[in-house]
Amino acid sequence: MVADPREIKSVCVYCGSQDGRDPAYAAAARAMGDALADQGIRLVYGGGGIGMMGQIADRVLQRGGQVVGVIPEVLMRAEVAHAGLTEMHVTADMHERKAMMADLADAFITMPGGLGTLEELFETWTWAQLGYHQKPVGLLNVNGYFDGLLQFLDQTVEHGYVSEQHRGTLIVDSEPQALLVKLR
Ligand code: AMP
Repeated sequence: MVADPREIKSVCVYCGSQDGRDPAYAAAARAMGDALADQGIRLVYGGGGIGMMGQIADRVLQRGGQVVGVIPEVLMRAEVAHAGLTEMHVTADMHERKAMMADLADAFITMPGGLGTLEELFETWTWAQLGYHQKPVGLLNVNGYFDGLLQFLDQTVEHGYVSEQHRGTLIVDSEPQALLVKLR
């Protein structure tokens, strides 16, 4: 049976291991958690219990949703591995973690975060560009956090490094619910 491409049962969320300065970021993580749980979508994430990562996982669990964490052994202490998840996978390294997170999800969402978050967004997006997967890649632009990045991405097209077509595949919205609708 061919799966309906719009059927999204699991979403992989990349976000900061810190909360960030603007309280709107953590609030958005909680709102994303609500949206996922309410729609019966399983959260796949990095398994940490701190920052935005902890906020979104806690919220999905509080609303009765399912959360799968994937964390490398060395980060279990640094990222305070979440103890109450539906499922937790401990991987040997970061490469295995990223591959497993990607395999377990039907779509990707990046929220505000730091270098780890940006790396995960770009890896997932370039994999789509290379045809390794056909899963939608979304960006939650909370309070304009990613405005500068989006502007720069337009510049990569103007300068002839990224095609208009690939630039257009990044799905952007500022509201969790609206972003989930667009991903479908
Ligand atoms: P950050 O956005 O830097 O707070 O990190 C968010 C998540 O990305 C955390 O789970 C980090 O473990 C993870 N991360 C950090 N560095 C990398 C990397 N080089 N590749 C993939 N994930 C990373």
